[in-house]
Amino acid sequence: MKYTVDSKGYYGRFGGAFIPEMLYPNVKNLEKNYLKIMESEEFQKEFTTLLKDYVGRPSPLYYSKRMSDKYGINLYLKREDVNHTGSHKINNTIGQILMARYLGKKRIIAETGAGQHGVATATVCAREGLDCIVFMGATDVARQMPNVEKMQMLGATVIPAESGNKTLKDATNEAIRDWINNPDETHYIIGSVVGPHPYPDMVARFQSVISKEMRMQLEEKTGNPLPDTVIACVGGGSNAAGAFYHYLNDESVRLVAVEADGLGLETGETAATMAAGSPGIIHGSMTMLMQTDDGQIVEPYSISAGLDYPGVGPLHAHLFDTKRGTFVRATDRDALDAAFELTRMEGIIPALESAHALAALKKLDFKPGETVVVNISGRGDKDMEAYRAEMKRRNEK
Ligand SMILES: *Cc1c(COP(=O)(O)O)cnc(C)c1O
Repeated sequence: MKYTVDSKGYYGRFGGAFIPEMLYPNVKNLEKNYLKIMESEEFQKEFTTLLKDYVGRPSPLYYSKRMSDKYGINLYLKREDVNHTGSHKINNTIGQILMARYLGKKRIIAETGAGQHGVATATVCAREGLDCIVFMGATDVARQMPNVEKMQMLGATVIPAESGNKTLKDATNEAIRDWINNPDETHYIIGSVVGPHPYPDMVARFQSVISKEMRMQLEEKTGNPLPDTVIACVGGGSNAAGAFYHYLNDESVRLVAVEADGLGLETGETAATMAAGSPGIIHGSMTMLMQTDDGQIVEPYSISAGLDYPGVGPLHAHLFDTKRGTFVRATDRDALDAAFELTRMEGIIPALESAHALAALKKLDFKPGETVVVNISGRGDKDMEAYRAEMKRRNEK
């Protein structure tokens, strides 16, 4: 079985490039050049140096003694939370800003939900001296002001999307519209392993540094590059793709993807695409998505802004289809409990997204002493409002 993309841009029956004709030359040009550019010595050297000196890589692989004892396993945490800007997203934006320069693009656009990808994009645009326009749903602009202010301080223009529910999906539609109107000058930095081919593959390759380092770090610590289980949360699926990438063909490694289940599948207030979704086309690719019977996109819900996307990358749809991936769900409550557990046992405040991955420790069966890696995709600073509410709830009990 093959888990990486084929020459036509497909993972099994998922993927492809379903795009308006106006974007065809742009996407085709990227498709023709991305591998050649990424694999060139010059690009690799610059990318690797920036990951090291600017992002702070390699991110540590930390052995969690107390959690290991509690769960009867050997638990390692991959610390993407210590990266510059606070999550794995910078791995992708660094790669794509270099790609934009190599392609001769002068203007950068991006979509953002909670603002994390917007901040990571504005950051690399500042460093590169490129114009940056970030589309963000008007609802999200209002509720994520600190990130809006960061983007503005970094020199980006934030444009509120006023259509639909005024959230991520609408911001993405606006970004695509802008790209259609400015195809020559502009590179669109997509924030996850979604969108038309070659984006899912390109983003997965930029993020694959996560599992590349995991292999080396595990080898050094345990004498074996292979863990028994790797766990990551899935919104669009980029941190999971990065954590799984160099293990896709090691079938002994269980790959666990954790979806956000909001208030629970039965309530309909969920973002668990594999459980609640079906195949369809969203933002340029054939994948699993949450939709009504007549194909209208259903608004997802999760406490975690990074996970409430109505689709999922085509790689993950394929991992689900082939059963190479194990998909589990964690509710808002599961994630809050897991976030407090890690904080109190290890002194690490995780992002709410990453807390969903941690919540899977309670849902999976483990062999005694097996080696487990949880990808801590980001830090919890941005989630203090939710954590503050949870502390209040706990004190009132
Ligand atoms: C954006 C985000 C995610 C979700 O995005 P993926 O593409 O699914 O990785 C997960 N964790 C953090 C910390 C994020 O900021």
